[in-house]
Amino acid sequence: MEYQIALLKGDGIGPEIVESAVAVLEKTGKAFGFTMAFHDYLLGGAAIDKTGVPLPQETVDGCLASDSVLLGAVGGPKWDDLPANIRPEKGLLQIRSILGLYTNLRPARLYPALAEKCMLRPDLVANGFDLVIVRELTGGIYFGERGRRTGKYGPEAYDTECYSVMEIERIARVAFSAAQKRRGKVTSVDKANVLESSRLWRETVHRVAEEYEGVTVEDMLVDNTAQQLIRNPAQFDVIVTSNMFGDILSDEMSQLTGSIGMLPSASLGDGTRGLYEPIHGSAPKYAGTGRCNPIATILSGAMMLRYSLNQNEAADCIENAVDQALSDGCRTRDIAGPEDTELSCTEMTKAILQRIEL
Ligand code: NAD
Repeated sequence: MEYQIALLKGDGIGPEIVESAVAVLEKTGKAFGFTMAFHDYLLGGAAIDKTGVPLPQETVDGCLASDSVLLGAVGGPKWDDLPANIRPEKGLLQIRSILGLYTNLRPARLYPALAEKCMLRPDLVANGFDLVIVRELTGGIYFGERGRRTGKYGPEAYDTECYSVMEIERIARVAFSAAQKRRGKVTSVDKANVLESSRLWRETVHRVAEEYEGVTVEDMLVDNTAQQLIRNPAQFDVIVTSNMFGDILSDEMSQLTGSIGMLPSASLGDGTRGLYEPIHGSAPKYAGTGRCNPIATILSGAMMLRYSLNQNEAADCIENAVDQALSDGCRTRDIAGPEDTELSCTEMTKAILQRIEL
């Protein structure tokens, strides 16, 4: 079995961290009896430099012909002054939309070995936490009708939050399926005390819940969720929410785990093809220094094995190797304490490779 994987390394630290993930995927594939053919395509600033646009057609065709897509990160100061329609980030938004990716999965775990890097008081995270945010990615206020007009008090601007039953149902199904493979609890986050779109969200989520045995659903207002994530993150298993609420809550959550360099993500649509990427950006200050943490991208590779290629044991193997490396004290700069030896990106990758058992 050979899977075709499109690699969009992008800019800044992107190439380094994607190469780390490829090395780990290749070794894991060997251990579990499958191979992957990796194909490089341009995206972001690297694409602008070579072709004048952030998402060349060749990249689109390559992604559409692949079983899945692994992405590093895009952007950097070199391209900051370009007009919005040819900035690196535009290429990322375009490829997500072309691939029809309406779900963003962001897991966050507190690794016991990194408990001291968590920003919360030790007693609040004594038992760690392990949750996943399921964010709707292609609807809601970021895509609703917007504009400027003259209102009662003069010039004004508006954006519209609009969700269809279909959009809510499909994202709810992703959340309930994920919960069935985890601890069986979904927290649906909305603002149903104020917003009509949230009331439709809530009633639809509850209707979908009836299709899923063994899963419980609770509702939580978004303002309360922002507090609860800080007060007791261990209470959550799967959080499902709209585009904007998910955007804000997932960034809050990323701060609870110690370093943004640890957090993977998956963007999924109806088929099995997904786009997998670390949640962080291109960290331009670390580009070429070897000081970045490859773990978020390596774990994104593990998510790709699980959600697109159905290689669950291989995914577990990578996640266990990361756990083991952290438990054994391996630390890149962003997660190192004063007593730790700092590993480079390549050294951390080697440490994880050594813990993948053939
Ligand atoms: P960033 O995520 O690149 O960096 C934020 C902070 O985290 C920085 O201090 C950075 O050095 C650190 N960091 C990030 N990844 C790290 C890693 N793997 N290891 C160690 N430290 C890490 O966000 P930013 O500084 O706001 O943006 C930099 C560029 O990245 C901008 O051009 C921005 O537009 C772009 N960006 C791209 C994406 C993406 O490609 N999905 C996402 C966010 C930002």
